[in-house]
Amino acid sequence: MALVVKKFGGSSVATTEKILNVAKRILNEKQADDKIVVVVSAMGDSTDNLITLAEGIDTQPYKSQYAREMDMLLTTGEQVSIALLAMAFQKLGHPAISLTGSMIGMLTNSVHTKGKILNIKPARVLEELDKGNIVVVAGFQGADKFGDPVTLGRGGSDTSAVALAGALKADECEIFTDVDGVYSADPRIVKNARRMKEITYVEMLEMARLGAGVMQPRSVEMGQYYNIPIHVRSTFTDKTGTIIREAYTLLEDKDFEIRGVSHDQKVAKIAVLGVENVPGIAHTIFSALADAHIDVDMIVQSIRNLEKNITDMVFTIALSDLPEAKKVVDVVAEKINAAAVLVEEDVAKVSIVGVGMLGKPGIAARMFGALAKANVNIDIISTSEISVSCLIKGSQLTEAVNSIHDEFFSD
Ligand code: ASP
Ligand code: MG
Repeated sequence: MALVVKKFGGSSVATTEKILNVAKRILNEKQADDKIVVVVSAMGDSTDNLITLAEGIDTQPYKSQYAREMDMLLTTGEQVSIALLAMAFQKLGHPAISLTGSMIGMLTNSVHTKGKILNIKPARVLEELDKGNIVVVAGFQGADKFGDPVTLGRGGSDTSAVALAGALKADECEIFTDVDGVYSADPRIVKNARRMKEITYVEMLEMARLGAGVMQPRSVEMGQYYNIPIHVRSTFTDKTGTIIREAYTLLEDKDFEIRGVSHDQKVAKIAVLGVENVPGIAHTIFSALADAHIDVDMIVQSIRNLEKNITDMVFTIALSDLPEAKKVVDVVAEKINAAAVLVEEDVAKVSIVGVGMLGKPGIAARMFGALAKANVNIDIISTSEISVSCLIKGSQLTEAVNSIHDEFFSD
């Protein structure tokens, strides 16, 4: 007997026909005594469509004043798909029940639209499994201490699935998606990107954090925390995909200098120009952003004018945070007497990732060389122990990613 959590993304449940196919596939593969929990996203583009609907009320529905109502709205997307999938199982002759985030005991904090899971007490899930049900769970959502719905950020169903697998001590968490695994770069951009058989939590987390859309970063953290192997595989074939786990078991996959090239187009750059070069300025700017729950990524403080002792503070944030961030920064800029606040949206971040670069000089230089060869200018550089990232012009992203991938993955 196995207890398995299977997660199906929006494209896998985009139509009722696809929902029926998902149910058939699960029943075909199921051994008699297997216990199955299925976590699903909203159908197709329905989350985006709900956001568009909200834009009919206000063109900026992600303002903090609306956050709770956005969650009330967005959680309906998953409620539709769980009900239909549970009905599909019943239609095919297997008992099933759908449960929302609050019904599975997923307690979150109260940071609406960007919630974090605090703990999961899945008593109801276990009870329903014991009754012989396939349990169909709404991804992307939990409930806070008031019982209000809270979503886990875009792509949050992955996190729901892995966290629930952890809380249930499942044998494995399978993530079914429209790609057949994790690639060395986005295969839509890089034609000869390689599919990996395995990747470690640490490297996958870094790739996801730096923009690899295949998994939400929090979900990989959850996998690592609970030590649950995550199998990323295709909804449309039964081919084995990529296993995300603690350590490599295959030599072949271990041998790369870098594991992959990630990119992120959903970033924006803010420059606070002409601020006084005195203690406390960085603190003032970034604590105001932190208070508004806005994550800041790359930060550069430049020495602009030594004589006048003024400097520029440049940083990047998620594009979706831009309207709120601009409001916050404008207020702070006024307070600290900055000369101007500039915003740039045509930017993208391209990164290389891999534990293989630890203690190996020259990897970053090769990345910069590949960018130079593609005639791409580097705006900001940042590094971690296992990654190097460059901020570049958004319109040059395709050339940049391909040139870097060629540098490290040519045969
Ligand atoms: N439906 C949500 C979204 O589109 C959650 C998910 O797909 O994982 O972001
Ligand atoms: Mg998704």
